[in-house]
Amino acid sequence: MTQTVLPAAFGFLASAHSGGGPIPTAAFATRGRHTRLSERLHGQTVDAVLVHPGAGPCAAHATDGDVLVLFAGEIYNRDEIHGTVGSPASASDAELVSGLFEKYGPHAFRLVNGRYAALLVTGTRVLAATDHAGSVPLYVRPEPGHVLAATEVKVLAEAGAAEGGAPVPGPRRLRGLPGVHRVPAGTVLDVRVDTGEVTAHRTWVPPVHRLLMEEDEAVNSVRAALEKAVIRRLPGAGRPLVVLSGGIDSSAVAALSVGAATAGVDTLSMGTDVSNEFPQARVVADHLRSEHREITVGSEDLLALLPHTVHAAESVDPEVIEYLLPLTALYRRIDGPPRRVLTGYGADIPLGGMHREDRLPNLDTAVAFDMDTFDGLNEMSPVLSAVSGHWSTHPYWDREVLELLTSLEAGLKRRYGRDKWVLRAAMADLLPAETVTRPKLGVHEGSGTTASFSLLVRRAGAAEDEVAAVKARVVQRLFDLTVVGGVHPDAVVVEEVIGKILAEGGR
Ligand code: ATP
Ligand code: MG
Repeated sequence: MTQTVLPAAFGFLASAHSGGGPIPTAAFATRGRHTRLSERLHGQTVDAVLVHPGAGPCAAHATDGDVLVLFAGEIYNRDEIHGTVGSPASASDAELVSGLFEKYGPHAFRLVNGRYAALLVTGTRVLAATDHAGSVPLYVRPEPGHVLAATEVKVLAEAGAAEGGAPVPGPRRLRGLPGVHRVPAGTVLDVRVDTGEVTAHRTWVPPVHRLLMEEDEAVNSVRAALEKAVIRRLPGAGRPLVVLSGGIDSSAVAALSVGAATAGVDTLSMGTDVSNEFPQARVVADHLRSEHREITVGSEDLLALLPHTVHAAESVDPEVIEYLLPLTALYRRIDGPPRRVLTGYGADIPLGGMHREDRLPNLDTAVAFDMDTFDGLNEMSPVLSAVSGHWSTHPYWDREVLELLTSLEAGLKRRYGRDKWVLRAAMADLLPAETVTRPKLGVHEGSGTTASFSLLVRRAGAAEDEVAAVKARVVQRLFDLTVVGGVHPDAVVVEEVIGKILAEGGR
Protein backbone atom coordinates (compact mmCIF):
# COMPACT_ATOMS: atom_id res chain seq x y z
CA MET A 1 0.00 0.00 0.00
CA THR A 2 1.26 3.45 -0.87
CA GLN A 3 0.05 6.99 -0.27
CA THR A 4 -0.99 9.96 -2.35
CA VAL A 5 1.75 12.61 -2.37
CA LEU A 6 -0.08 14.60 0.29
CA PRO A 7 -2.96 13.65 2.58
CA ALA A 8 -6.43 15.05 1.86
CA ALA A 9 -6.16 17.46 4.80
CA PHE A 10 -3.32 18.73 6.98
CA GLY A 11 -5.55 20.01 9.77
CA PHE A 12 -8.92 21.29 10.87
CA LEU A 13 -10.84 23.60 13.15
CA ALA A 14 -14.31 22.57 14.23
CA SER A 15 -17.10 24.01 16.32
CA ALA A 16 -19.78 21.57 17.48
CA HIS A 17 -22.73 23.21 19.16
CA SER A 18 -26.31 22.70 20.14
CA GLY A 19 -27.34 26.27 19.46
CA GLY A 20 -24.86 28.58 17.81
CA GLY A 21 -21.50 29.75 19.03
CA PRO A 22 -18.79 31.69 17.29
CA ILE A 23 -16.13 29.90 15.26
CA PRO A 24 -12.66 31.46 15.60
CA THR A 25 -10.64 32.70 12.65
CA ALA A 26 -8.75 29.80 11.08
CA ALA A 27 -5.31 31.28 11.86
CA PHE A 28 -3.33 28.13 11.02
CA ALA A 29 0.44 28.23 10.57
CA THR A 30 -0.10 25.36 8.12
CA ARG A 31 -0.09 26.50 4.54
CA GLY A 32 -3.04 25.34 2.47
CA ARG A 33 -6.43 26.19 1.19
CA HIS A 34 -9.30 26.57 3.61
CA THR A 35 -12.60 24.84 2.94
CA ARG A 36 -15.58 25.53 5.18
CA LEU A 37 -18.29 23.05 5.84
CA SER A 38 -21.41 23.08 7.92
CA GLU A 39 -23.40 19.97 8.82
CA ARG A 40 -26.62 19.80 10.77
CA LEU A 41 -26.75 16.46 12.56
CA HIS A 42 -29.64 15.20 14.73
CA GLY A 43 -28.41 16.59 18.03
CA GLN A 44 -25.95 19.30 17.05
CA THR A 45 -24.48 21.39 14.29
CA VAL A 46 -20.84 21.32 13.21
CA ASP A 47 -19.11 24.24 11.52
CA ALA A 48 -15.60 23.40 10.39
CA VAL A 49 -12.67 24.63 8.37
CA LEU A 50 -10.35 22.09 6.78
CA VAL A 51 -6.84 23.22 5.84
CA HIS A 52 -5.71 21.15 2.91
CA PRO A 53 -3.26 21.06 0.04
CA GLY A 54 -5.31 19.94 -2.95
CA ALA A 55 -8.28 21.13 -4.89
CA GLY A 56 -10.88 19.81 -2.46
CA PRO A 57 -10.67 17.95 0.85
CA CYS A 58 -13.51 15.50 0.11
CA ALA A 59 -11.50 12.56 1.36
CA ALA A 60 -10.94 14.29 4.71
CA HIS A 61 -14.58 14.33 5.78
CA ALA A 62 -17.41 11.84 5.66
CA THR A 63 -21.03 11.95 6.73
CA ASP A 64 -23.10 8.83 7.27
CA GLY A 65 -26.50 9.37 8.89
CA ASP A 66 -25.85 11.03 12.23
CA VAL A 67 -22.08 10.54 12.08
CA LEU A 68 -19.63 13.16 10.80
CA VAL A 69 -15.90 12.45 10.62
CA LEU A 70 -13.16 15.03 10.08
CA PHE A 71 -9.76 13.50 9.40
CA ALA A 72 -6.35 15.19 9.14
CA GLY A 73 -3.44 12.98 8.14
CA GLU A 74 -3.32 9.43 6.85
CA ILE A 75 -3.78 5.75 7.68
CA TYR A 76 -1.06 3.12 7.16
CA ASN A 77 -3.08 -0.08 7.72
CA ARG A 78 -5.82 0.76 5.22
CA ASP A 79 -5.73 -2.72 3.66
CA GLU A 80 -6.47 -4.38 6.98
CA ILE A 81 -9.28 -1.94 7.73
CA HIS A 82 -10.82 -2.52 4.30
CA GLY A 83 -10.84 -6.21 5.13
CA THR A 84 -12.67 -5.75 8.41
CA VAL A 85 -15.27 -3.15 7.39
CA GLY A 86 -15.77 -4.44 3.85
CA SER A 87 -15.51 -0.95 2.36
CA PRO A 88 -14.83 -0.34 -1.32
CA ALA A 89 -11.15 0.03 -2.24
CA SER A 90 -11.83 3.66 -3.09
CA ALA A 91 -13.03 4.51 0.44
CA SER A 92 -11.30 7.54 1.94
CA ASP A 93 -9.59 7.53 5.32
CA ALA A 94 -12.53 9.46 6.79
CA GLU A 95 -14.94 6.85 5.42
CA LEU A 96 -12.82 4.04 6.87
CA VAL A 97 -12.99 5.65 10.30
CA SER A 98 -16.73 6.07 9.92
CA GLY A 99 -17.03 2.38 8.93
CA LEU A 100 -14.90 1.30 11.90
CA PHE A 101 -17.00 3.42 14.24
CA GLU A 102 -20.20 1.80 13.02
CA LYS A 103 -18.76 -1.60 13.88
CA TYR A 104 -16.68 -0.91 17.00
CA GLY A 105 -17.87 2.41 18.46
CA PRO A 106 -15.12 4.48 20.08
CA HIS A 107 -12.89 1.39 20.09
CA ALA A 108 -12.52 2.04 16.35
CA PHE A 109 -9.44 4.13 17.06
CA ARG A 110 -7.65 1.17 18.68
CA LEU A 111 -7.53 -0.37 15.23
CA VAL A 112 -5.93 2.44 13.28
CA ASN A 113 -2.18 2.63 12.62
CA GLY A 114 -1.74 6.13 11.27
CA ARG A 115 -0.53 9.67 11.54
CA TYR A 116 -3.71 11.57 12.20
CA ALA A 117 -6.03 13.66 14.30
CA ALA A 118 -9.73 12.90 13.92
CA LEU A 119 -13.00 14.30 15.13
CA LEU A 120 -16.12 12.16 15.09
CA VAL A 121 -19.41 13.85 15.90
CA THR A 122 -22.57 11.86 16.63
CA GLY A 123 -25.64 12.19 18.86
CA THR A 124 -24.66 14.61 21.61
CA ARG A 125 -21.03 13.50 21.57
CA VAL A 126 -17.80 14.70 20.03
CA LEU A 127 -14.96 12.17 19.94
CA ALA A 128 -11.53 13.75 19.55
CA ALA A 129 -8.90 11.13 18.66
CA THR A 130 -5.13 11.13 18.22
CA ASP A 131 -2.90 8.45 16.77
CA HIS A 132 -0.83 6.25 19.11
CA ALA A 133 2.02 8.78 19.13
CA GLY A 134 -0.12 11.92 19.17
CA SER A 135 1.94 12.79 16.12
CA VAL A 136 -0.73 15.17 14.81
CA PRO A 137 -1.52 17.40 17.78
CA LEU A 138 -5.19 17.94 18.64
CA TYR A 139 -6.69 20.40 21.10
CA VAL A 140 -10.19 20.75 22.51
CA ARG A 141 -11.99 23.53 24.36
CA PRO A 142 -15.18 22.08 25.86
CA GLU A 143 -17.95 24.27 27.25
CA PRO A 144 -21.53 23.22 27.95
CA GLY A 145 -23.32 23.51 24.60
CA HIS A 146 -20.21 24.30 22.59
CA VAL A 147 -17.05 22.30 21.82
CA LEU A 148 -14.18 23.72 19.83
CA ALA A 149 -11.40 21.52 18.48
CA ALA A 150 -8.37 22.27 16.31
CA THR A 151 -5.10 20.74 15.20
CA GLU A 152 -3.23 23.94 16.11
CA VAL A 153 -3.82 25.45 19.52
CA LYS A 154 -3.18 29.01 18.34
CA VAL A 155 -6.47 28.77 16.47
CA LEU A 156 -8.30 28.29 19.79
CA ALA A 157 -6.46 31.10 21.58
CA GLU A 158 -8.78 33.68 20.04
CA ALA A 159 -11.81 32.08 21.72
CA GLY A 160 -10.51 33.11 25.17
CA ALA A 161 -11.02 31.27 28.44
CA ALA A 162 -13.68 28.55 28.41
CA GLU A 163 -16.52 29.02 30.87
CA GLY A 164 -18.30 26.38 32.92
CA GLY A 165 -16.32 23.48 31.48
CA ALA A 166 -16.31 20.31 33.58
CA PRO A 167 -12.93 18.97 34.79
CA VAL A 168 -11.12 17.12 32.02
CA PRO A 169 -9.39 13.88 33.01
CA GLY A 170 -5.96 13.12 31.59
CA PRO A 171 -5.29 15.84 29.08
CA ARG A 172 -2.60 18.40 29.58
CA ARG A 173 -3.37 22.02 30.11
CA LEU A 174 -1.75 24.57 27.88
CA ARG A 175 0.41 27.45 29.01
CA GLY A 176 -1.62 30.67 28.89
CA LEU A 177 -4.74 29.02 27.47
CA PRO A 178 -7.19 28.18 30.27
CA GLY A 179 -9.93 25.73 29.35
CA VAL A 180 -8.01 24.38 26.35
CA HIS A 181 -6.68 20.80 26.57
CA ARG A 182 -4.34 18.79 24.42
CA VAL A 183 -5.69 15.36 23.58
CA PRO A 184 -3.00 12.96 24.85
CA ALA A 185 -1.29 10.53 22.50
CA GLY A 186 -3.27 7.38 21.78
CA THR A 187 -6.44 8.73 23.34
CA VAL A 188 -10.05 9.39 22.45
CA LEU A 189 -11.64 12.21 24.40
CA ASP A 190 -15.37 11.62 24.50
CA VAL A 191 -17.03 15.02 25.04
CA ARG A 192 -20.75 15.48 25.80
CA VAL A 193 -21.67 18.62 23.93
CA ASP A 194 -24.75 19.35 26.07
CA THR A 195 -22.88 19.28 29.40
CA GLY A 196 -19.25 19.76 28.37
CA GLU A 197 -18.33 16.61 30.32
CA VAL A 198 -15.30 14.70 29.09
CA THR A 199 -14.24 11.06 29.43
CA ALA A 200 -10.84 9.84 28.22
CA HIS A 201 -10.22 6.39 26.68
CA ARG A 202 -6.73 5.16 25.89
CA THR A 203 -6.35 3.50 22.50
CA TRP A 204 -2.65 2.71 22.79
CA VAL A 205 -0.05 2.53 25.54
CA PRO A 206 3.68 1.95 25.08
CA PRO A 207 4.61 -1.69 25.74
CA VAL A 208 6.14 -2.20 29.17
CA HIS A 209 7.13 -5.85 28.69
CA ARG A 210 10.39 -6.83 26.99
CA LEU A 211 11.03 -9.64 24.48
CA LEU A 212 13.93 -12.05 24.58
CA MET A 213 14.95 -12.98 21.03
CA GLU A 214 17.86 -14.59 19.27
CA GLU A 215 20.00 -12.06 17.42
CA ASP A 216 18.92 -13.23 13.99
CA GLU A 217 15.26 -13.17 14.80
CA ALA A 218 15.48 -9.67 16.27
CA VAL A 219 17.49 -8.36 13.32
CA ASN A 220 15.10 -9.88 10.78
CA SER A 221 12.03 -8.62 12.62
CA VAL A 222 13.38 -5.08 12.78
CA ARG A 223 14.31 -5.11 9.11
CA ALA A 224 10.89 -6.45 8.06
CA ALA A 225 8.91 -4.05 10.25
CA LEU A 226 10.88 -1.00 9.16
CA GLU A 227 10.70 -1.95 5.52
CA LYS A 228 6.94 -2.35 5.74
CA ALA A 229 6.61 1.02 7.48
CA VAL A 230 8.71 2.74 4.82
CA ILE A 231 6.75 1.14 1.97
CA ARG A 232 3.46 2.21 3.56
CA ARG A 233 4.72 5.79 3.57
CA LEU A 234 5.96 6.00 0.01
CA PRO A 235 4.01 7.97 -2.58
CA GLY A 236 2.17 5.86 -5.16
CA ALA A 237 3.44 8.18 -7.86
CA GLY A 238 6.48 10.43 -7.90
CA ARG A 239 9.64 10.40 -5.84
CA PRO A 240 9.83 10.49 -2.05
CA LEU A 241 12.23 12.91 -0.42
CA VAL A 242 14.30 11.54 2.46
CA VAL A 243 15.91 14.10 4.76
CA LEU A 244 19.31 12.55 5.29
CA SER A 245 21.92 13.30 7.93
CA GLY A 246 24.12 10.31 7.15
CA GLY A 247 23.40 8.86 10.61
CA ILE A 248 22.09 5.31 10.80
CA ASP A 249 18.44 6.26 11.30
CA SER A 250 17.81 8.38 8.24
CA SER A 251 20.28 6.34 6.14
CA ALA A 252 18.23 3.20 6.87
CA VAL A 253 15.04 4.97 5.76
CA ALA A 254 16.79 6.18 2.59
CA ALA A 255 18.13 2.69 1.80
CA LEU A 256 14.74 1.02 2.26
CA SER A 257 13.07 3.75 0.18
CA VAL A 258 15.54 3.21 -2.63
CA GLY A 259 14.75 -0.49 -2.52
CA ALA A 260 11.01 0.08 -2.87
CA ALA A 261 10.31 3.39 -4.64
CA THR A 262 9.86 2.73 -8.33
CA ALA A 263 10.39 6.32 -9.49
CA GLY A 264 13.66 6.79 -7.56
CA VAL A 265 14.47 8.71 -4.38
CA ASP A 266 15.67 12.23 -3.63
CA THR A 267 17.78 12.90 -0.56
CA LEU A 268 18.45 16.25 1.05
CA SER A 269 20.92 17.35 3.71
CA MET A 270 21.21 20.64 5.53
CA GLY A 271 24.11 22.22 7.31
CA THR A 272 25.02 25.67 8.58
CA ASP A 273 28.06 27.87 8.18
CA VAL A 274 29.09 26.60 11.61
CA SER A 275 28.82 22.86 11.06
CA ASN A 276 27.41 20.15 8.82
CA GLU A 277 27.30 16.39 8.23
CA PHE A 278 27.60 16.73 4.44
CA PRO A 279 30.48 14.26 3.90
CA GLN A 280 28.69 11.54 5.89
CA ALA A 281 25.40 12.07 4.04
CA ARG A 282 27.20 12.14 0.70
CA VAL A 283 28.71 8.70 1.37
CA VAL A 284 25.21 7.31 1.78
CA ALA A 285 23.74 9.15 -1.20
CA ASP A 286 26.58 7.94 -3.45
CA HIS A 287 26.15 4.38 -2.22
CA LEU A 288 22.38 4.43 -2.79
CA ARG A 289 22.62 6.52 -5.98
CA SER A 290 19.91 8.87 -4.78
CA GLU A 291 19.46 12.31 -6.33
CA HIS A 292 21.17 14.25 -3.55
CA ARG A 293 21.16 17.93 -2.61
CA GLU A 294 22.86 19.96 0.11
CA ILE A 295 21.48 23.14 1.60
CA THR A 296 23.53 25.52 3.74
CA VAL A 297 21.71 27.91 6.04
CA GLY A 298 23.58 30.77 7.71
CA SER A 299 23.43 30.45 11.49
CA GLU A 300 21.95 33.95 11.82
CA ASP A 301 19.18 33.04 9.42
CA LEU A 302 18.70 29.81 11.34
CA LEU A 303 18.30 31.53 14.70
CA ALA A 304 15.90 34.06 13.17
CA LEU A 305 13.60 31.08 12.61
CA LEU A 306 13.25 30.33 16.33
CA PRO A 307 9.88 32.13 16.49
CA HIS A 308 8.71 30.22 13.40
CA THR A 309 9.72 26.91 14.97
CA VAL A 310 7.84 27.62 18.20
CA HIS A 311 4.86 28.94 16.21
CA ALA A 312 4.74 25.73 14.15
CA ALA A 313 5.59 23.17 16.85
CA GLU A 314 3.63 24.88 19.65
CA SER A 315 6.09 23.39 22.13
CA VAL A 316 7.71 25.06 25.14
CA ASP A 317 10.46 22.47 25.52
CA PRO A 318 13.76 24.20 24.74
CA GLU A 319 15.57 20.99 23.75
CA VAL A 320 12.83 19.96 21.38
CA ILE A 321 12.88 23.40 19.81
CA GLU A 322 16.64 23.04 19.29
CA TYR A 323 16.15 19.76 17.40
CA LEU A 324 13.30 21.17 15.39
CA LEU A 325 14.89 24.48 14.42
CA PRO A 326 17.27 23.05 11.77
CA LEU A 327 14.49 20.87 10.41
CA THR A 328 12.17 23.88 10.18
CA ALA A 329 14.87 25.69 8.22
CA LEU A 330 15.33 22.66 5.98
CA TYR A 331 11.63 22.25 5.22
CA ARG A 332 11.33 25.93 4.37
CA ARG A 333 14.09 25.59 1.81
CA ILE A 334 12.48 22.70 -0.08
CA ASP A 335 11.39 24.42 -3.24
CA GLY A 336 9.29 23.23 -6.15
CA PRO A 337 6.05 21.31 -5.76
CA PRO A 338 4.88 20.00 -2.38
CA ARG A 339 6.73 16.87 -1.30
CA ARG A 340 6.20 13.75 0.77
CA VAL A 341 9.15 13.75 3.17
CA LEU A 342 10.39 10.69 5.08
CA THR A 343 12.62 11.18 8.10
CA GLY A 344 14.63 9.06 10.52
CA TYR A 345 13.13 10.95 13.43
CA GLY A 346 12.49 9.27 16.74
CA ALA A 347 14.50 6.02 16.51
CA ASP A 348 16.52 6.95 19.57
CA ILE A 349 13.52 7.01 21.88
CA PRO A 350 12.56 3.28 21.75
CA LEU A 351 16.18 2.19 21.13
CA GLY A 352 17.76 4.28 23.88
CA GLY A 353 20.17 5.82 21.36
CA MET A 354 20.89 8.87 23.49
CA HIS A 355 22.13 6.62 26.27
CA ARG A 356 25.89 6.37 26.01
CA GLU A 357 26.89 3.78 28.60
CA ASP A 358 26.90 0.00 28.76
CA ARG A 359 24.71 -0.74 31.78
CA LEU A 360 21.52 -2.40 30.54
CA PRO A 361 19.26 -1.63 33.53
CA ASN A 362 20.00 2.05 33.02
CA LEU A 363 19.32 1.77 29.30
CA ASP A 364 15.91 0.25 29.93
CA THR A 365 15.15 2.88 32.56
CA ALA A 366 15.93 5.55 29.95
CA VAL A 367 13.72 3.87 27.32
CA ALA A 368 10.83 3.44 29.77
CA PHE A 369 11.15 7.04 30.90
CA ASP A 370 11.31 8.44 27.37
CA MET A 371 8.34 6.35 26.24
CA ASP A 372 6.35 7.61 29.23
CA THR A 373 7.18 11.26 28.67
CA PHE A 374 7.31 11.86 24.91
CA ASP A 375 3.73 13.03 24.83
CA GLY A 376 3.02 16.72 24.55
CA LEU A 377 6.38 17.71 23.08
CA ASN A 378 4.99 17.91 19.51
CA GLU A 379 8.31 16.66 18.13
CA MET A 380 6.60 15.02 15.18
CA SER A 381 4.07 17.69 14.41
CA PRO A 382 3.31 17.83 10.68
CA VAL A 383 2.94 21.61 10.97
CA LEU A 384 6.75 21.97 10.85
CA SER A 385 6.76 20.96 7.20
CA ALA A 386 3.17 21.95 6.41
CA VAL A 387 4.07 25.62 6.93
CA SER A 388 5.79 25.26 3.57
CA GLY A 389 3.20 22.92 2.11
CA HIS A 390 5.09 19.61 2.58
CA TRP A 391 3.99 16.46 4.42
CA SER A 392 6.43 14.68 6.73
CA THR A 393 6.18 11.13 8.02
CA HIS A 394 8.34 9.17 10.44
CA PRO A 395 8.69 5.38 9.87
CA TYR A 396 10.30 4.66 13.27
CA TRP A 397 7.09 5.85 14.92
CA ASP A 398 4.90 3.60 12.85
CA ARG A 399 2.81 1.81 15.48
CA GLU A 400 4.21 -1.63 14.64
CA VAL A 401 7.84 -0.50 14.42
CA LEU A 402 7.57 1.45 17.65
CA GLU A 403 6.02 -1.48 19.51
CA LEU A 404 8.70 -3.84 18.31
CA LEU A 405 11.63 -1.51 19.01
CA THR A 406 10.35 -0.54 22.45
CA SER A 407 9.75 -4.12 23.52
CA LEU A 408 13.12 -5.60 22.51
CA GLU A 409 15.24 -6.40 25.56
CA ALA A 410 17.91 -3.83 26.28
CA GLY A 411 20.78 -6.15 25.34
CA LEU A 412 19.62 -6.12 21.72
CA LYS A 413 19.69 -2.32 21.70
CA ARG A 414 23.16 -2.00 23.18
CA ARG A 415 25.47 -4.87 22.19
CA TYR A 416 29.16 -5.32 21.43
CA GLY A 417 29.72 -1.77 22.67
CA ARG A 418 27.40 -0.25 20.05
CA ASP A 419 24.25 1.80 20.51
CA LYS A 420 21.17 0.88 18.42
CA TRP A 421 22.91 -2.43 17.63
CA VAL A 422 19.84 -4.25 16.34
CA LEU A 423 19.06 -1.51 13.82
CA ARG A 424 22.68 -1.30 12.66
CA ALA A 425 22.80 -5.06 12.19
CA ALA A 426 19.47 -5.01 10.34
CA MET A 427 20.83 -2.52 7.82
CA ALA A 428 24.39 -3.84 7.45
CA ASP A 429 23.90 -5.24 3.93
CA LEU A 430 22.34 -2.07 2.51
CA LEU A 431 24.66 0.67 3.74
CA PRO A 432 28.39 1.43 3.73
CA ALA A 433 30.21 0.00 6.76
CA GLU A 434 31.22 3.47 7.94
CA THR A 435 27.55 4.50 8.07
CA VAL A 436 26.52 1.36 9.91
CA THR A 437 29.11 1.97 12.64
CA ARG A 438 28.86 5.77 12.77
CA PRO A 439 28.09 7.08 16.29
CA LYS A 440 24.95 9.09 16.78
CA LEU A 441 25.05 12.82 16.26
CA GLY A 442 21.84 14.74 16.93
CA VAL A 443 20.70 17.25 14.34
CA HIS A 444 21.08 20.08 16.87
CA GLU A 445 24.73 19.05 17.31
CA GLY A 446 25.53 18.25 13.66
CA SER A 447 24.15 21.58 12.49
CA GLY A 448 25.73 23.56 15.33
CA THR A 449 22.29 24.83 16.39
CA THR A 450 22.80 24.32 20.11
CA ALA A 451 26.16 26.07 19.99
CA SER A 452 24.81 28.98 17.92
CA PHE A 453 21.81 29.54 20.20
CA SER A 454 24.07 29.42 23.29
CA LEU A 455 26.45 31.90 21.69
CA LEU A 456 23.60 34.29 20.90
CA VAL A 457 22.43 34.18 24.52
CA ARG A 458 25.98 34.66 25.84
CA ARG A 459 26.64 37.57 23.51
CA ALA A 460 23.50 39.24 24.80
CA GLY A 461 25.13 39.21 28.24
CA ALA A 462 24.00 35.95 29.90
CA ALA A 463 26.48 34.40 32.31
CA GLU A 464 27.63 30.87 31.52
CA ASP A 465 25.51 29.29 34.26
CA GLU A 466 22.41 31.18 33.09
CA VAL A 467 22.47 30.02 29.47
CA ALA A 468 20.14 27.03 29.78
CA ALA A 469 17.60 28.91 31.89
CA VAL A 470 17.59 31.90 29.53
CA LYS A 471 17.07 29.63 26.53
CA ALA A 472 14.11 28.02 28.27
CA ARG A 473 12.60 31.43 28.99
CA VAL A 474 13.17 32.57 25.41
CA VAL A 475 11.21 29.57 24.14
CA GLN A 476 8.40 30.21 26.63
CA ARG A 477 8.25 33.86 25.63
CA LEU A 478 8.14 32.95 21.95
CA PHE A 479 5.23 30.62 22.72
CA ASP A 480 3.41 33.38 24.63
CA LEU A 481 3.91 35.80 21.75
CA THR A 482 3.31 33.69 18.67
CA VAL A 483 0.94 30.95 19.87
CA VAL A 484 -1.06 32.59 22.67
CA GLY A 485 -0.65 36.21 21.60
CA GLY A 486 -1.23 35.82 17.88
CA VAL A 487 1.93 37.74 16.89
CA HIS A 488 3.23 36.65 13.49
CA PRO A 489 6.69 35.07 13.85
CA ASP A 490 8.10 37.36 11.13
CA ALA A 491 7.41 40.27 13.50
CA VAL A 492 9.45 38.81 16.37
CA VAL A 493 13.14 39.69 16.72
CA VAL A 494 14.89 37.02 18.77
CA GLU A 495 17.67 39.34 20.02
CA GLU A 496 15.05 41.74 21.40
CA VAL A 497 13.29 38.90 23.23
CA ILE A 498 16.59 37.76 24.77
CA GLY A 499 17.46 41.35 25.69
CA LYS A 500 14.13 41.82 27.48
CA ILE A 501 14.48 38.56 29.37
CA LEU A 502 17.97 39.49 30.58
CA ALA A 503 16.77 42.96 31.57
CA GLU A 504 13.99 41.40 33.65
CA GLY A 505 16.62 39.45 35.61
CA GLY A 506 15.41 36.59 37.80
CA ARG A 507 11.69 37.20 37.28
P1 ATP B 1 20.19 10.03 12.11
O1 ATP B 1 20.80 8.76 12.62
O2 ATP B 1 19.42 9.86 10.87
O3 ATP B 1 21.14 11.18 12.12
P2 ATP B 1 19.41 10.77 14.64
O4 ATP B 1 18.92 9.72 15.53
O5 ATP B 1 20.82 11.23 14.83
O6 ATP B 1 19.13 10.36 13.18
P3 ATP B 1 18.64 13.46 14.54
O7 ATP B 1 20.00 13.70 14.03
O8 ATP B 1 18.21 14.19 15.75
O9 ATP B 1 18.39 11.96 14.82
O10 ATP B 1 17.65 13.84 13.36
C1 ATP B 1 16.36 13.34 13.21
C2 ATP B 1 16.07 13.22 11.73
O11 ATP B 1 16.11 14.52 11.11
C3 ATP B 1 17.10 12.41 10.97
O12 ATP B 1 16.84 11.05 11.05
C4 ATP B 1 16.96 12.96 9.58
O13 ATP B 1 15.85 12.41 8.90
C5 ATP B 1 16.70 14.42 9.82
N1 ATP B 1 18.00 15.15 9.82
C6 ATP B 1 18.83 15.30 10.85
N2 ATP B 1 19.91 16.01 10.52
C7 ATP B 1 19.75 16.32 9.22
C8 ATP B 1 20.53 17.04 8.27
N3 ATP B 1 21.68 17.60 8.61
N4 ATP B 1 20.06 17.14 7.03
C9 ATP B 1 18.91 16.58 6.66
N5 ATP B 1 18.13 15.89 7.53
C10 ATP B 1 18.54 15.77 8.77
MG1 MG C 1 21.78 12.48 13.50
